Amino acid sequence: MEKRTFLKTGLFLGIAAATTSFLEACKTAAKTSSSAGASADKPTLPPPKLRRTTPFTLPSLGYDVAALEPHIDKMTMEIHHDRHHNAYVTNLNDAVKDTVYAEYELEDIVARISTSDADKKIRNNAGGHWNHSFFWQTIAPGGGNAPSGNLTAAINTTFGSQDKFKEQFTAAAKGVFGSGWAWLCVGKDKKLFISSSPNQDNPLMLNVSKQIGAPIIGLDVWEHAYYLKYQNKRPDYITAFYNIINWKVVSERYEKAMG
Ligand code: MN
Repeated sequence: MEKRTFLKTGLFLGIAAATTSFLEACKTAAKTSSSAGASADKPTLPPPKLRRTTPFTLPSLGYDVAALEPHIDKMTMEIHHDRHHNAYVTNLNDAVKDTVYAEYELEDIVARISTSDADKKIRNNAGGHWNHSFFWQTIAPGGGNAPSGNLTAAINTTFGSQDKFKEQFTAAAKGVFGSGWAWLCVGKDKKLFISSSPNQDNPLMLNVSKQIGAPIIGLDVWEHAYYLKYQNKRPDYITAFYNIINWKVVSERYEKAMG
């Protein structure tokens, strides 16, 4: 139990810390790129100092597979976590072998991955591993807790109201054609924005994403995330998602991204 808690906390802190340093890294990289004549929108990060010495592993959900019922059913969670997420982890470990990314931490791969064909398998599986690790923590049994005061104020300022935020986020999630994700992010200007990404791309992918930012909410709208219970009714799944958003975690991510 202690080990489980430690691993969970470790993963959370890892992702949260990466998100915090991410916006700082963007600034540094943008400055470096500008001085080198490259576009500030496509910063190139230097190789990371950290070296990873163990394979990527599947993180635990942190709650029971049935705990999100009735919003997300047990079988979907089992298949989604134990098979889909696990496959991203396995394939990522395979894909990074003998590449420049072999000893990079997950966040370092995600930030540096390119749109080249050579990087495609790593891009898909590193994104898949990062996005799902983030998603399991974005949701929690019961949900129901509220955003922090600062995040509530930021949502109201940016979108007009909490309901208007939901409307816009729902539209983004519904609007993903095929497989992808909807995101609520903190941008480099420290303002909130909503975006979406295809496949397993995400807003941390500096060389891939059209809108760069630190995600604080991510919603998986691949059919595997909802099809068993909701079939083709993606809007019903999105509505259910609002019942299980872990606003405590989302608010902590917001505070960290704001520095
Ligand atoms: Mn998924």
